[in-house]
Amino acid sequence: MVYDPVLLSKSIQRLVISGSQRKYYRFRGGRWYGGIATADCVGCNLRCVFCWGSYARDNPARKGRFYTPSQVFRRLDKIARKRRYRFLRISGNEPTISRDHLLSLLEFIEYTNYTFILETNGILIGYDKTYAKALSKFRNLHVRVSIKGATPEEFSKLTGAIPEAFELQLQSLRNLLDYGVSVHPAVMLSFSSRKGIDYLVTRLNDVDREMVEELEEEYVFLYPHVVEQLRKAGIWPKKAFEPDNIPGEYI
Ligand code: SF4
Repeated sequence: MVYDPVLLSKSIQRLVISGSQRKYYRFRGGRWYGGIATADCVGCNLRCVFCWGSYARDNPARKGRFYTPSQVFRRLDKIARKRRYRFLRISGNEPTISRDHLLSLLEFIEYTNYTFILETNGILIGYDKTYAKALSKFRNLHVRVSIKGATPEEFSKLTGAIPEAFELQLQSLRNLLDYGVSVHPAVMLSFSSRKGIDYLVTRLNDVDREMVEELEEEYVFLYPHVVEQLRKAGIWPKKAFEPDNIPGEYI
């Protein structure tokens, strides 16, 4: 049954947020972005069939434990100092569903030399323009909106969400640009047709020409559990990467 990701956010929030705390299941270093300290959070408002973090996503009550923004900052800072990283991020599931927690974490990062990369599906920033406004206060922030599929139909097929929610991802780009937040789009293209990609490029061009120029292509990584998920859903990528090709990710 299709779902509305904005409504789903509310039920997941109850499981992964407690006061200012958010659930996380792992802290790690990695070579993405030339070196980045990463906190893997629990809970998402989408259900992508290609999700590598699906266990945490589907078991929010069982996976991880609660951390305050200060504790998360200290863990990230420790990893980044040790490995001389300039970048920090939250990954694993969706960072934006815990708005207050995320904004508090950004306060800690604001007076450092780190840049925080906010990797998001964009749903909540597209739904509520005040989210983009709140993010615009932070200098050390870059947002990467990861669009799930090239068209509303493909988005719905890949995520199981209502096709209308595809628009929220594009709206998040508009909202962030309107408030002067540094942003670029990425898109999962493993399952897209040429026609679909052309559609997305036209839509991004309507948002801003720069969004087309800065579009980052994403392709699914075929971890064994992801292969299983794709098989079950009867969906197979036109293009994908073997996990061995991941550029040096490590825990
Ligand atoms: S948005 Fe990201 S974390 Fe959420 S289901 Fe999709 S791939 Fe997984």
